[in-house]
Amino acid sequence: MLKNRRSRLDPLFEELSLDAVLVTDIRNIRYLCGFSGSEGALLISSATAWFLCDSRYTAQAAAEVQGAEVRECVLRLETLHALSVENGLKRIGFEAAHTSVSAFRKISGALSGIELVELGPVFDDIRICKDPLEIELLSAVATLASQSLTSILPLVKPGVRESDIALELEFEMRRRGADGRAFDFIVASGVRGAMPHGRASDKLIQSGELVTIDFGALKDAYHSDETVTIACGEPGGREREIYAIVKEAHDLAILQVRPGLTCRDLDAVARDYIREHGYGDYFGHGLGHGVGLEIHEMPTLSPRSEAVLKEGMVITIEPGIYIPGFGGVRIEDTLVVTGDGYRILTSADKHLLIL
Ligand code: ZN
Ligand code: ZN
Repeated sequence: MLKNRRSRLDPLFEELSLDAVLVTDIRNIRYLCGFSGSEGALLISSATAWFLCDSRYTAQAAAEVQGAEVRECVLRLETLHALSVENGLKRIGFEAAHTSVSAFRKISGALSGIELVELGPVFDDIRICKDPLEIELLSAVATLASQSLTSILPLVKPGVRESDIALELEFEMRRRGADGRAFDFIVASGVRGAMPHGRASDKLIQSGELVTIDFGALKDAYHSDETVTIACGEPGGREREIYAIVKEAHDLAILQVRPGLTCRDLDAVARDYIREHGYGDYFGHGLGHGVGLEIHEMPTLSPRSEAVLKEGMVITIEPGIYIPGFGGVRIEDTLVVTGDGYRILTSADKHLLIL
């Protein structure tokens, strides 16, 4: 599996006349060689690969790293230079998006005589379609998070603090085996629901309010992402109206998911529906995004996105309506694009729950 992933780099060597690629982003390192620690570097030539780490990680690397020779080093850049000279690596690509200016200066200073070639978002493209192992992990973490939410729902009631709901949900995820939360949960009740990214606050939930909970778990480096909006007590007419519009926009968009559709056209399905129902000005963000080793990754689903859906992409569908001074609704699921359509990975109930 990891060998297949590394082979996705092969065209780069030819296109850019590279002798090797230096990978320093820890997520890309994990993706390509399996190392789960927090620091290291992976040097990949067309023929072989080396994983460089300091002594803190040697034992872990020996146990985890696949398809690369582990080299413990005291001064990583010196080792990198020596390896490059020994193996005739004269043009090395590096991840420009994950290299600070000062790090670049250090690397280029240490690798004298070696040409460093700035790589664009090549790993975004390589990671955009998930392989079967990744889909299994994304499916497992999504199930864990959905079940955690379902089990803490009885806590959502008048008088409870938003931040206590976030805390209980995280406890529940960890109890069920999560490594942690995928991001700071959003728990936004009543008028705070108008803030698409309203992190859980000290506010107490009031009877009759809508509560938007955007949550995800992290397990084995993969993230889940899901949003429910729940009515705490009997909702008013306008709350019911915007819920029904967002739910229909969400359902209509999901039904269209299939390989070959552009992300822009998919975004338009939900956006047009919301606009036709008079709330176009209240849906400001894109329809969704890719999910994987990062909570937000490619592709982006927005009116400007020219990406085309392909089998193996894992995306969110998350339309919303946010009305300042009133509140809001968002409904989000994560799904995988299959050969002929989609499979939804998240499973918390998306019908209007009245607690
Ligand atoms: Zn979310
Ligand atoms: Zn999301």
